[in-house]
Amino acid sequence: MGQLKRLPSRLGRAPSRVRSMPKKAEAFYQSKEWRALVRSIKAERGNWCERCGSGHRVAGDHKVERRDGGAELDPANVELLCQPCHNRKTAAAKAARVTGGRPKV
Ligand SMILES: [Zn+2]
Repeated sequence: MGQLKRLPSRLGRAPSRVRSMPKKAEAFYQSKEWRALVRSIKAERGNWCERCGSGHRVAGDHKVERRDGGAELDPANVELLCQPCHNRKTAAAKAARVTGGRPKV
């Protein structure tokens, strides 16, 4: 008896590494498969933003984000967006997630 009292408490001293976690989302967008898909979509649709028509810094983006269950490599779930449109869309999706609604796409 009395052994429980002598167990050292280590939980409070565990180092927190949460902040140094690598961004796993970024790795996908560096993958050969994703790059090849975006290249073929650009060849097919043209290297233009599908929302505003800008040709500046156009990149592939998921309509339904992967974290929301969207298909990763389905062209139907990918649209080409310029940087400003992508930022707007990402902010809207984040806001929708916070309020529990569906992002407007
Ligand atoms: Zn745009």
